[in-house]
Amino acid sequence: MEVITTVQEMQQKANALRAAGRTIALVPTMGFLHEGHLELMRAGKQNADNLVISIFVNPTQFGPGEDLDRYPRDTPGDLQKARDVGVDIVFLPSAPEMYPAGFQTRVQVQHLPQHLCGLSRPGHFDGVATVVTKLFNITKPHIAVFGQKDYQQLAVISRMVMDLDMDVQIIGVPIVREPDGLAMSSRNSYLSPEERRSALCLKKSIDLAHRMFQHGERRADSILEAVRTLVEDHPFTNIDYVALCDPVTLDNLKILKQENLLALAVRVGNTRLIDNSILREGSNP
Ligand code: AMP
Repeated sequence: MEVITTVQEMQQKANALRAAGRTIALVPTMGFLHEGHLELMRAGKQNADNLVISIFVNPTQFGPGEDLDRYPRDTPGDLQKARDVGVDIVFLPSAPEMYPAGFQTRVQVQHLPQHLCGLSRPGHFDGVATVVTKLFNITKPHIAVFGQKDYQQLAVISRMVMDLDMDVQIIGVPIVREPDGLAMSSRNSYLSPEERRSALCLKKSIDLAHRMFQHGERRADSILEAVRTLVEDHPFTNIDYVALCDPVTLDNLKILKQENLLALAVRVGNTRLIDNSILREGSNP
């Protein structure tokens, strides 16, 4: 496994792979790798000859007062996990390597960020779209793999790739959960044992919404109310949003349709957790 820290060397390597007729898969991450990330990597390996991952805690997607400075990091552990899963190249740039003095460009998707996480994290998806565009230009992938855990991020990236004719196929991987249902996240490491127990309210409320939908409930308000009540019954929780929306446009729904996205963001103590699920007619979670 190679570890590359400069843009120039990574581009040269990607050019050489492409010239040799090899296909490249990219898995962008912010590190502190867990089984969710590894699942993306396995999907990348299955769909291309060479697997590149990036580990970069991207400052432009964090707002003032967010957790950029305390975001968990474990580079030696990450490299070992990447090696074990069969990654070929880890792209591990510094912040100045990605954003040298004079940097002044932003990639902005217009409407999808005006929903869900974009409302409480202004500018977040501009930072994501910008860094992902840069990572595509640096690692030159044929395919790129993202998790459905960050549903809105996957939607924004897919839209950006379509709108800007980027020649990259986007693959989405289902949410990987802990045995008790909590969606895996690097941020779970912030939780105290008591908060960790409360954090189960996200998955429990998703399960409740599925049961209501299966029993025929189609009024968004009544499902949202039940979800909010369940979350609020757990200590340390503070709801950022709970939404039922169209899975493509992310517009809020009043009456549910065949396919609906339930998405929620909940602060548990100081930790902001997100989760989501598709409520679909004729299928179980
Ligand atoms: P992050 O390091 O949190 O920026 O995540 C990097 C990638 O891993 C993103 O595409 C995430 O959506 C994905 N990811 C993170 N956690 C999970 C999970 N529990 N299941 C599936 N994908 C995940």
